[in-house]
Amino acid sequence: MSTEHDGGKPSVKARRILLKISGESFCPPHERGISMNSVNHLAAQIVKVAKLGVQIAVVMGGGNILRGAQFKATNGAGSIQEATAHYMGMLATVINGLALQDAIEALSQPTRLMSAIQMDAVSEPYLRRRAQRHLEKGRVVILAGGTGSPFVTTDTAAAQRALELDCDVILKATKVRGVYSEDPEKNPNATFFPHLNFNDVIGRQLRVMDSEAFAKCAEHNMPIMVFNFREDDNLERAVCGENVGTIIDSNP
Ligand code: UDP
Repeated sequence: MSTEHDGGKPSVKARRILLKISGESFCPPHERGISMNSVNHLAAQIVKVAKLGVQIAVVMGGGNILRGAQFKATNGAGSIQEATAHYMGMLATVINGLALQDAIEALSQPTRLMSAIQMDAVSEPYLRRRAQRHLEKGRVVILAGGTGSPFVTTDTAAAQRALELDCDVILKATKVRGVYSEDPEKNPNATFFPHLNFNDVIGRQLRVMDSEAFAKCAEHNMPIMVFNFREDDNLERAVCGENVGTIIDSNP
């Protein structure tokens, strides 16, 4: 893949994307909670791409606040049940979604926040056809509440929504360049893969997304690009067809 620029104006390849942002993008590295500096950085990247005419659905995680699995070991009397903790994690994504919505709208870009867990005071309920209409009208659609069901992560929500909203690609924003043979933060000699086939990922047992989400993408041939979102302009380059990280698809 290569980027095509036409007289300085990027030539856009993607029509509709699903951007998956993990909760850790909502705060500086190794911190928790929400930092509006981080959120404003996310918003600026998103708005730049929205202004190019790309339709954007965003699924964000909640790991900067809470992940359900962290309560697994403490299950028992007097502690939070795991299912409850997963619902708390889903609510964390709504908190992130509200912050992202304000940051994007501060840049004069219309948005809609839709939640899989109904929360009428702050969001619209997620309805597929309504989400499609918002996308067609150029609104950035922020999809909160994950899938609305416990025991999965927002990767599954990203795969599910990308498929039902007929997105061209899932752009999975991470803190590293893409997919490596091992965790590059633990092994600096890990091999980086610019392209992988769905079967390569399964065969090599590489971790791209949670397994349920990945299986869904593989089964329905939904391409995934894993890329570093902290680097400015990566999102713009990705929607212009440049491989800024690792592409995973059905090509050999
Ligand atoms: N979650 C859930 N169902 C969903 C999506 C999320 O139960 O459909 C819960 C789950 O506990 C998860 C937490 O919400 O750990 C936060 O999401 P995630 O771990 O995906 O956040 P990220 O790691 O991307 O920040």
